[in-house]
Amino acid sequence: MQIICNKILVLIFFKVMDQKKKDKMITRLKESGIKITRQRKSIIESIAMQKRPFTASKLFLSLGKNIDIVTIYRNLKLLNRLGLLFSESYNGQQSFYYSDNHHHHIRCIKCGRVDCVQCFLDIEGIKGYSEIRHDLVLKGICDDCKKTYEGN
Ligand SMILES: [Zn+2]
Ligand SMILES: [Zn+2]
Ligand SMILES: [Zn+2]
Repeated sequence: MQIICNKILVLIFFKVMDQKKKDKMITRLKESGIKITRQRKSIIESIAMQKRPFTASKLFLSLGKNIDIVTIYRNLKLLNRLGLLFSESYNGQQSFYYSDNHHHHIRCIKCGRVDCVQCFLDIEGIKGYSEIRHDLVLKGICDDCKKTYEGN
């Protein structure tokens, strides 16, 4: 019973978080004078539900292929420009993630699991440049995969 209750609490927690993300994105778009069309709203709702970095094609699938990929990509770019989505490149594929702050991701080369990692770069400390951007590719083997391999 305890486990079931905890699971429900976690679900409620995620629902509230998703709602907050969605509200933030919509408010920000409105402030920038961008119309919230029905398609745009669906895309935003789908983004708010993503727990890990996602690609345009991942969104395309989770939207049931109802919105064409070009429209999805255009909206991702727009949200990225407004600072609501961060973008990163992995294996030549561009993925996006929603966050209140810039950070990085580490991927397991065995199972593809993704986890968030804090950024330790002191961008403010770099003098003589402006609008500095950076990509960081972190790869490794997660503890679960390591256990499987050691067990063999
Ligand atoms: Zn793994
Ligand atoms: Zn993250
Ligand atoms: Zn960083």
